Parts: sequence; structure tokens; C-alpha cells
Amino acid sequence: MSTRNPRPVVTFPIVLRELTVLRVADVTPGMRRVTLGGEQLRAFHRDGLDLPALRSEGFDDHVKFFFADGDAPPVLPGQNVSSLDWPADARPIAKDYTPVRYDPEAGEIDFDFVRHEGGVASSWAQAVKPGEVTWIAGPKMSHGHPEGVDWLLVIGDETALPAIGRWLAEMPAGTRARVFIEVGEESHRQELPTEADATVTWLTRDGAPAGSTDLLERAVRSMEWLPGEVYVWAAGEAVTLKGIRRHLSAERGVPRERTHITGYWRRTEPDPVAGAGQAEDDAHERLHELTDLAPGFAIRAAVTLGLFDLVRDGVSGPAELARRTGAEPSLLGALLTYLVAIGLLEADGDGHRLTAVSEELVEDDHSSDEYHLGGAQAAMDLSLAGLPHTLRTGGPGFRTAGGDRVATA
Ligand SMILES: Cc1cc2nc3c(=O)[nH]c(=O)nc-3n(C[C@H](O)[C@H](O)[C@H](O)COP(=O)(O)OP(=O)(O)OC[C@H]3O[C@@H](n4cnc5c(N)ncnc54)[C@H](O)[C@@H]3O)c2cc1C
Repeated sequence: MSTRNPRPVVTFPIVLRELTVLRVADVTPGMRRVTLGGEQLRAFHRDGLDLPALRSEGFDDHVKFFFADGDAPPVLPGQNVSSLDWPADARPIAKDYTPVRYDPEAGEIDFDFVRHEGGVASSWAQAVKPGEVTWIAGPKMSHGHPEGVDWLLVIGDETALPAIGRWLAEMPAGTRARVFIEVGEESHRQELPTEADATVTWLTRDGAPAGSTDLLERAVRSMEWLPGEVYVWAAGEAVTLKGIRRHLSAERGVPRERTHITGYWRRTEPDPVAGAGQAEDDAHERLHELTDLAPGFAIRAAVTLGLFDLVRDGVSGPAELARRTGAEPSLLGALLTYLVAIGLLEADGDGHRLTAVSEELVEDDHSSDEYHLGGAQAAMDLSLAGLPHTLRTGGPGFRTAGGDRVATA
């Protein structure tokens, strides 16, 4: 059995876009569709950066919507070259939603919002009117249709319905699929056009609160398992998915790389105050802080180009810095903007000056050697990318230079 993840992936720069609500319509009594449009769906220019058009090529792509907390304007992240700069002093209220339809030519993108009690996103979708402005960021990547599998098992509650509907519509003709969808009421079912060989089973909670039943797990446990290699995609309330994950692994023997199981939301007691679910958001941001590689690589790139030394020596302005470092001027401009955003440089008229942190880099040769991407320390740092290999085999996760080992993890 192959261990390769069967879904090809493509990544994009993360771009914050200001868009306008074009239309609002109820798909069912439980789901509101909001159609957005605007110039920033296309490639555009902001804050000295050329930002690309939105791309959404995977059925389970997601974007973040940014919302206001009460009457205050929404807290928005800053834009870096290809990522967002999350403010340290105020926390944006951001929620994930799936582009259910994207038409770049018409300049329109649709999102389907589940109607539920007590959420800033759901409440926004219920109240928003055409002409209002909103902000989204992403998608930052798209995963394709799984390749080389014999059949698909697709499981989800209504929050997964936008992704499942889009997938069924885009699935190659004849794909064998068994699909289980849980909704609140019969009237929340949707037409799901497809050319796939798909059997869709609707499960209805009939008054039970969302995220409180084991309907999906029981349906999967009692289904007739098809022969051949399966790929399982599941999304919905996080706790209800746990039993399904255990069942697939322990009783059906489905390897982890053949599953994509994602908690799309977590059931808590409804809180009418905007910002409920903040603990989860905090955890999300903390995870982002712990795993963000962008600042480390941006600083190392600047050290490697000799940028901080030139700024210390009074070389001023992106054009002259680009000439002296041999960098492409607009890209160097973007790097300078990012270094200002993370506190490594300060803007000074048309030029820049060092901060206490970057002074440390230029005053201490050890520091600058340590962060030069051509140096031995960088080779050792980069060998950490081989850590999974080390953990699996006990062997070094080294990177090679000229065929020689240069570091061990
Ligand atoms: C990758 C991804 C894609 C997603 N795509 C979609 C999508 O296309 N459409 C969609 O509607 N949702 C989608 N979701 C789920 C959505 O992001 C969450 O439901 C989100 O928490 C809603 O935010 P809120 O501000 O309305 O509610 P929150 O402030 O998060 O929660 C407020 C209260 O509502 C409850 N609650 C939250 N969501 C639901 C729900 N769906 N049903 C019942 N109670 C709920 C919470 O338990 C809490 O008590 C997606 C999530 C992820 C991770």
C-alpha cells in the first residue's frame, strides 16, 4: 500500500482583500449564500506590493473572513510579500469559510454560511446587505482530487457541505464515492449535482443540537465497505469526528495518509457576545507564532545580501540598496517593508535605519555569521527539515553540500 499523500498541493501567497457584498440569498433555511466581488479579486497593488489574483483550485480551500467586534472597525492583519503580519497589540476576529464557487471572469466568489446561534460570522451573514464591504485572506493553498485511489468516503456536517458540494460538482465522472452528510432538518438538504458514481446519504438531527449526535459515526460504522484503496475526507464538529477517526484507524485499518479529517468547529455553550470561541482563536494564533518560518528566513536573506551592513553604512533608498546587493528592486522593496513590519528596520524618510535588534546583527560578527545562509550554522539549522527522517530512522537529517555531510540533526 502506498504511503504517499494522494492529493497534489499548490500554495499561493496569502493576500488580504477588501471586497464588496454583491448578493445575499438563502440556499436553504439553514444556509445563507454571500456573493462577494471587487477589484481586489484580481491582481492589484497596495502598500508598495504587487499582489496576485485570488486562486481557488481545491474543493476544500478556505479563506479567513475578518469581522468587527461590536461597533469598532475590524482589526485587520498587515500585508507582507506573501504572508500576513498579525498585529501584536490587538487580535483580529477571523473565521474560516469555503469558497463554494469562484468565477474569476465574472469577478464573483460565493460563500455559504451555516445559520446558528451566537456567532459573529453567522450573525454577520444573516445581517449583511449588498454594497457592504468585507475582508478576506486566502486561500493560501489548494489540495487537488486524490489520485490513485479506488473509492472515496466523504463525511461531513453542514459546515462541510460547501466543500462536499463543490467536490461532487468537480469530481471526475464515474468516481466511486460514498457520501454521508448530517444536517439539522430535512429542509436543509441540498441538490448536489455530480457526474461521479456517488451515493449520498442524508442524516437529519431532527431537533438535536448541532455537534451533539453520533449520527455520522454510526452511519460509517454500519456502511458496506467497498473493495480497494479508500481515501477518506471528513469535516465537521471536532469532537464528533474523534470516534470516526478511531474507527477508521483501529477497525478499518485506513492509514493516516489516506485520511483528511478536520474539525471545522467546536461545540461550546452559545455566547451572545461577539468573540466567543476566542480560546480556540488564541490557540490558533499561538500555533502560528510557534511555527512561522517567515521572519527567520527574511532576516537570514537580508544578512546574506549584506543589507544590514549597507544600512549601517548609510546607504539609503531601495534603488541604491538593490544596486549594491544585486537584488531585484521591487522584490527588495518588499523585503524592506517586511523587515520594518517585524521590527528589524525603521523607516526613516526615504531610507531606513537599524533598530536595536538589527544593530546586534551588524555589531557582532558571530551573529551575522550565524544567520548567513551560506554558513555552517545555516546548514545545521536547515538540517532540522530532516527531523522527521531522524526521528524515524535515527539517522542524520543532514543537508549535503558538494556531496559532503555538513550537519546532523
Ligand atoms: C477549513 C474550514 C472551512 C470552513 N468552511 C465553512 C463554510 O464554508 N461554511 C460554514 O458555515 N462554516 C465553515 N467552517 C466552520 C466555521 O468556521 C465555524 O463554524 C465558525 O466557528 C463559525 O464562526 P461564528 O463566529 O459564527 O461562531 P463562533 O463564534 O465560532 O461560535 C459561537 C457559538 O456557535 C457555535 N457554533 C459555531 N459553529 C457552529 C455551527 N456550524 N453550528 C452550530 N453551532 C456552531 C459554537 O459552539 C459557539 O457556541 C469552516 C471551518 C474550517 C476550519
